[in-house]
Amino acid sequence: LFGAANNIELTVMIRDPDPFKHMQAAVDIVGSSAHPTNKIAATLACTDGTTLSRTNSWPQIIAERLGMEIDIGNASGTVHAETACVLASNAKTEGASVFVTDPPCPNCLKNVAEAGIKALYIDHKGFDKDFARRRGEQFEAMSLRVAERAGIAVHVVYRKDQRLETILKILPGYQPVNELPLRLAAATDDFTDAIKSETQHFQNQPFALVRVQNDKGQIFDLSGSAHPTLGYSHTTLESPDGKYNFVLEPLNRVLMGAARQGLSIDPQYVYSSRVPTAREFINMVGKNLLQLRIGNLNAARDIFGPMALKQLTRAKIITVIEDGRNP
Ligand SMILES: [Zn+2]
Repeated sequence: LFGAANNIELTVMIRDPDPFKHMQAAVDIVGSSAHPTNKIAATLACTDGTTLSRTNSWPQIIAERLGMEIDIGNASGTVHAETACVLASNAKTEGASVFVTDPPCPNCLKNVAEAGIKALYIDHKGFDKDFARRRGEQFEAMSLRVAERAGIAVHVVYRKDQRLETILKILPGYQPVNELPLRLAAATDDFTDAIKSETQHFQNQPFALVRVQNDKGQIFDLSGSAHPTLGYSHTTLESPDGKYNFVLEPLNRVLMGAARQGLSIDPQYVYSSRVPTAREFINMVGKNLLQLRIGNLNAARDIFGPMALKQLTRAKIITVIEDGRNP
């Protein structure tokens, strides 16, 4: 009998106050969101103990120069709260947890996945709001599927009862497929050399490249192509769902990948082989990266990227660095 008992893994339930504390930190600032109707906030808790909270928000420079009413290309000018947390983090987001007042949209889940975040907590009240109901289908159909593939556990937080309900459990040891990881290499003397070598590597695949620095001051070049979200491969890729799809664009990938590893991006060295999508532009501005080198100004995923580029350069928000040696 004792032998059998030894095989049973005993789990000691410790009442961890942190999830409630972190969710409360998000709830405390949600009212300060500039969004007139959909006020959302999130807290990011990194494994080194660092935490930060953000609301969904318009990057200040966009609010000032283009206003909050217009779309940039086909994207609203807002950076969603979860994504804003990742973009603002100086600490590594690998293994972090994120606490959101509302069920996240698929795009944010893709970002959170690429940032290496392993746990998502959603406030139960977020499921009762009007727009959450409207968005519920996307959450069920896409956000949760992305979370499952990427190995992100999902919990609902009942603050009043200090109770957690796990709605997506990830088995211990689960490793998501990472078919085409980002490339990190020692920085070349001349950034254009890095552009050339990555162009050769990626051939006709759209890619992005940024120069990054770690906390020891070492400099690297970080690059990546468009790719299905972490946990998906080209062969398991599911078909797009309305306005969302499972692919993460190159610039978004490197922005999230840099956060994942706690790397800061040098604003002078941001390269995209083609015109980024509108959403990539917004995230870039949200990260305060305002200079962009573009390989081929005539290439884009869709018509909205070039539209966004025109709006952002006319408003003097983004500067395109001309570089004759770009491919
Ligand atoms: Zn979102």
